[in-house]
Amino acid sequence: MLKKVKLTGRIVTPSDPDYEQARINNNLSIAKFPSKIVFCQNAKDVVNALRWVREKNEPFRIRSGRHSYENYSLVNEGVVIDVSDMNHISINVADMTARIEAGADLGKVYRELWESGMTIPAGTESSVGVVGLTLGGGIGMLSRQFGLTCDNLLEIEMVGASGHLGAELLKANNHLNSDLFWASCGGGGGNFGIVTALTFKLHAISDVSIFSITWGWEDFEVAFDAWQKWAPYTDERLTSQLELKSKEVGEIVAQGEFVGSAHELKKLLRPLRKTGSPTSVWIKEVPYIKAVRFFDVPSGNVPALRKRSGSFIEKPFPHAAIRRMKAFLANAPNRNAEIWQQSLRGAVSQVAPNRSAYFYRNALIAQEYLTTWEKPQEENQNIQWIEDLRRALSPYTAGDYVNFPDHYIKDWPSAYYGRNFRRLREVKTKYDPFNVFHFPQSIPPVRKWI
Ligand SMILES: Cc1cc2nc3c(=O)[nH]c(=O)nc-3n(C[C@H](O)[C@H](O)[C@H](O)COP(=O)(O)OP(=O)(O)OC[C@H]3O[C@@H](n4cnc5c(N)ncnc54)[C@H](O)[C@@H]3O)c2cc1C
Repeated sequence: MLKKVKLTGRIVTPSDPDYEQARINNNLSIAKFPSKIVFCQNAKDVVNALRWVREKNEPFRIRSGRHSYENYSLVNEGVVIDVSDMNHISINVADMTARIEAGADLGKVYRELWESGMTIPAGTESSVGVVGLTLGGGIGMLSRQFGLTCDNLLEIEMVGASGHLGAELLKANNHLNSDLFWASCGGGGGNFGIVTALTFKLHAISDVSIFSITWGWEDFEVAFDAWQKWAPYTDERLTSQLELKSKEVGEIVAQGEFVGSAHELKKLLRPLRKTGSPTSVWIKEVPYIKAVRFFDVPSGNVPALRKRSGSFIEKPFPHAAIRRMKAFLANAPNRNAEIWQQSLRGAVSQVAPNRSAYFYRNALIAQEYLTTWEKPQEENQNIQWIEDLRRALSPYTAGDYVNFPDHYIKDWPSAYYGRNFRRLREVKTKYDPFNVFHFPQSIPPVRKWI
């Protein structure tokens, strides 16, 4: 007779004093109450957890950094398989590679790689999980120079579903299970299996230059227009972001990171410096780790009531679209509401849209609509604002980045994956035919839609 599998690892249940802390994610507005949270300590714990939930037919979700906008890493009355205790990083300096366990967050990744004078291009907030970020693509302040995070991925180790009730360890890279590897570079977290480790190629890094330019509300239109016509086309070593804040705050802030000297950056910034009447301009040369800390905004790491959504800009916004953004920000539900944008192209667009599952290779800009609020009764108004904004800009935008998921997007398969959705379903069918890994907006296998 087959021995019944047991859950192993650090298991937290509702009667434990640390349940509340173990349960919550970065977004507090979608509360979920799992019956068990299994903090796996190694790949064997992950295999046991997957076999256990399959045997018991328990709902489950996979979790790492807890930053899913829609809390797709949580489930009510089911099991959360959490890999965040598995966060060891081993660096091979000679090969310039690192094997990073899937529970590491970006803060740890940046800190430890920096000790060897290395990095990977990844996101800005230190508490975001490297695994969720990489599986969806991964954009950040080195994207235009070194590509997306997933473009630097060499291999994943994963626990997949095998047979009717089993679980098995798999590796995927460009030679082994290459279709699964293709799907893992932009296909989004939670779809194919539970990633336990990722191996990346590293880049040497030392000093970089950073800048910040702030304009007042009266320069909204000229500042945005100048930035959009400059940021995706300037020197590839320079990646920048633009924050369009609510009228109540009344600021437009461009910031960025340049892998080069402050002197050279100053020249590159000329078109922005000459636009409107900036209220503040500064440029600094700093050790790379200081730049990482500069872009790591503390409020993003603290759990809060939030709603976020997003889209890509493939053609520069005409004036009508700029005026729409301005009108929404003039009527924002609160002062924290904003539109955030990041410049793309450069190394990101040197990869064809079908070369990995990340489809929007030719976009100029990735953008996010975001708001946070304090009292639960403010939720409807905030969500409505985000959704109205998304719809109002949709004639001028394309799709949405799968790492900025929005449960209100009806045609999410094409919004997240464009023409890559079909192949993603084929890969899903091969590696997870029974749709073991599913959540709202997960990729369905071809024969079965749950
Ligand atoms: C404050 C904030 C800042 C952000 N900044 C950036 C940024 O700079 N650049 C950027 O590209 N994105 C950014 N994002 C988006 C971020 O990339 C996604 O939210 C990402 O999915 C987070 O991954 P996670 O591991 O932290 O989250 P989780 O909630 O743990 O997981 C996210 C998704 O991945 C799945 N998943 C988790 N662990 C695993 C695993 N081991 N194997 C398989 N699937 C798994 C989950 O089931 C879920 O569907 C930001 C998000 C927030 C909230």
